[in-house]
Amino acid sequence: MEVNQIQRVRAVIRGAVQGVGFRPFIFRLAEEMQLNGWVINNTQGVFVEAEGEPEVLQQFLLRIEREKPAISFIQSFEHSYLDPVGFDKFEIRESTDGPKTALILPDIATCDDCRQEVFDPANRRYRYPFTNCTNCGPRFSIIEALPYDRPRTSMKIFEMCPACAEEYHNPRDRRFHAQPNACPKCGPHLELWEPSGIVVVKGDGALLHAAAAIRGGLIVAVKGVGGFHLIVDARNQAAVRLLRERKRREEKPFALMFPSFGAVAEFARIEPLEERLLLSTEAPIVLLRRTDLKGLAESIAPRNPCLGVMLPYTPLHHLLMRELGFPVVATSGNVSDEPICTDEHDALLRLQGIADLFLVHNRPIVRHVDDSVLRVMAGRELVLRRARGFAPLPVLLREAVLDVIAVGAHQKNAIAAAVRQQVFISQHIGDLETVPAYGAFQKVLTDFADLYELHPEVLACDQHPDYFSTQYARKQSDVEVVAVQHHYAHAMSCMAENQIDAPALGTSWDGSGYGPDGTVWGGEFLRITPEGFERFAHLRTFRLPGGEKAVKEPRRVALSVLRETFGAELSGLGGLPTLHAFSADERRLLEEMLERGLRSPQTSSAGRLFDAVASIIGLRQVCRFEGQAAMELEFLTHGVVTELTYPFDMVLGDSVTVVDWARMIRAIVADVREATGSSTIAAKFHNTLAEVMVRVAKECGEEKIVLSGGCFQNRYLTERAVMRLRSEGFRPYWHQRVPPNDGGIALGQVAAVARAKPNLTGGKRQTVCA
Ligand SMILES: [Zn+2]
Ligand SMILES: [Zn+2]
Ligand SMILES: [Zn+2]
Repeated sequence: MEVNQIQRVRAVIRGAVQGVGFRPFIFRLAEEMQLNGWVINNTQGVFVEAEGEPEVLQQFLLRIEREKPAISFIQSFEHSYLDPVGFDKFEIRESTDGPKTALILPDIATCDDCRQEVFDPANRRYRYPFTNCTNCGPRFSIIEALPYDRPRTSMKIFEMCPACAEEYHNPRDRRFHAQPNACPKCGPHLELWEPSGIVVVKGDGALLHAAAAIRGGLIVAVKGVGGFHLIVDARNQAAVRLLRERKRREEKPFALMFPSFGAVAEFARIEPLEERLLLSTEAPIVLLRRTDLKGLAESIAPRNPCLGVMLPYTPLHHLLMRELGFPVVATSGNVSDEPICTDEHDALLRLQGIADLFLVHNRPIVRHVDDSVLRVMAGRELVLRRARGFAPLPVLLREAVLDVIAVGAHQKNAIAAAVRQQVFISQHIGDLETVPAYGAFQKVLTDFADLYELHPEVLACDQHPDYFSTQYARKQSDVEVVAVQHHYAHAMSCMAENQIDAPALGTSWDGSGYGPDGTVWGGEFLRITPEGFERFAHLRTFRLPGGEKAVKEPRRVALSVLRETFGAELSGLGGLPTLHAFSADERRLLEEMLERGLRSPQTSSAGRLFDAVASIIGLRQVCRFEGQAAMELEFLTHGVVTELTYPFDMVLGDSVTVVDWARMIRAIVADVREATGSSTIAAKFHNTLAEVMVRVAKECGEEKIVLSGGCFQNRYLTERAVMRLRSEGFRPYWHQRVPPNDGGIALGQVAAVARAKPNLTGGKRQTVCA
């Protein structure tokens, strides 16, 4: 879709890439592929920038990994696409010192050498689940303090045996200064526990016993690198259902771990970028299009054409999956909405009644790190959940800013800490709904402040007074607190990672965020100016009967939207699925609430408009998890090819333009009554939203269009918007390294504060980001 458009790719490669001929290798590869740009080496890693056509750049990235010097090893490889700057040659630039801030590496998936040793009967680490080396193994999850040295990791309790110590001190050994180095003699070991805490068996027997239990349909809690997984046989319908019941997780898709890459290919279609991600050292969960369920339980992801898939990334997982030979559900070891368990004794308490057995070990996990989730969108990687493999690597800003800690939003919380040009983004923390989640949030804040020795001048938070993160910030003394409007933060987050400046039009679409005018915002077009932002346009508002309850029930939202559209005519619209989703009493009550505006806040939310349409076409009336209706609406578009759209109106006001969707809703209702297929309706609805973006962009006149907010997790919507905006001469930008959902808010809060406050290079002092 991005044919012949010259782009610039920036890659940051970390690992054993210095002093191994990596720069000359990159130089030769770039010359051969006729790419212009540069490569540089500093204390933070190897930085590469190259310009060319997207297809060639993608090949370039894939070939770097495939053809890298034999003795080099990549521990982390992140890249983003940026605007081209017009390089005229490829050069090796002089090394610079780079930022002095200590770099903490994420946890790294097991390397091939270690994996081979684990399966080699002649090796002293044969079947040892904690095998690692300088190139791989735990990092972020075991570091207690900096500098990174064994006594400051959770490995300090294990004294190395002479053989391990010899490796550790030998500069020619692959385990030279490998801090978590261990072997069966001196390192951590496995145990299998009953829910009562009684040890069933130790060592390799624990793994074999656990494998047998999983094969027999039991739920086993497995302590991994950044926390516990709950594991069941993904083919066993009854076991998967039982896990859902016990975990109180009705329909939200489960992630799967497959024994090998080859096994994944039997179930899903895999694009080259997705293959790269699956096999990368970050080893995230990748969302793939499933081709066939072939014996997998339907309940792993009900009515969902995608599969969330990862491959084994520790020796423990490799051993277990080799033993099993079939895919398993590997979902976070927690009760719904709570943070993942990291400690085996805590797990016994919190996972009581969920897990039948506990496969644990005695290497303490210093901090929780969930599995990351990525999806390929518009030909690029998109991080949906930034955690293992990525946290706490920084996102680089174009300019240095003052020291800021941003506490993020409420859902999918993550925090960020800016140190000059770098913004360290924490691992995913989760929704701050529960006491344990709020505890985890506070722990991560303290943790970051300690690790990086931060003394921030500013704490940035959301404007929503009820967010626990905001309340936390407000309680802190000795530091200035700046509240940043939610959708402005979304737009700034996307601009920061794409390294672009104002002016731009920020299209911030999500479920909800605090609006300064007393309404709930969520379908916003913000003109981003060098000083701040102005609300240029928004979707027409409607009421949410019952507030939070309406978020869980698309039928409530639809009733409101239908009343707005049809008024008194509504009663004559028999046969609409929404109207049949209520009892007569329920409907009367809701209509009265809407009539009198009782507990029915006004919103301009795009996410809720998805909910309304999902209900009107009879797709979903009540959600079992956040975002379900919008997700299912997107799934309906799979394989549909249509250019059709619905009509809508632009109401130009004095201060703000309102996008009126009423004619679209009328047309959708007409389609439903004429029995138009719901897939076609869904595609037309998405197409219409892309046209809305184009029309507002034309009205606004800014060339740069920024797409952020939870709605842009939707692949069809994002790709359609990018394609249409480009064809109309605009330059769309979307997320890559940071989630478009509220997991990216903290970065945006940092970026917003950076503009409003005097930065290190001087500038005017301003106060508000509202
Ligand atoms: Zn290794
Ligand atoms: Zn040893
Ligand atoms: Zn949001």
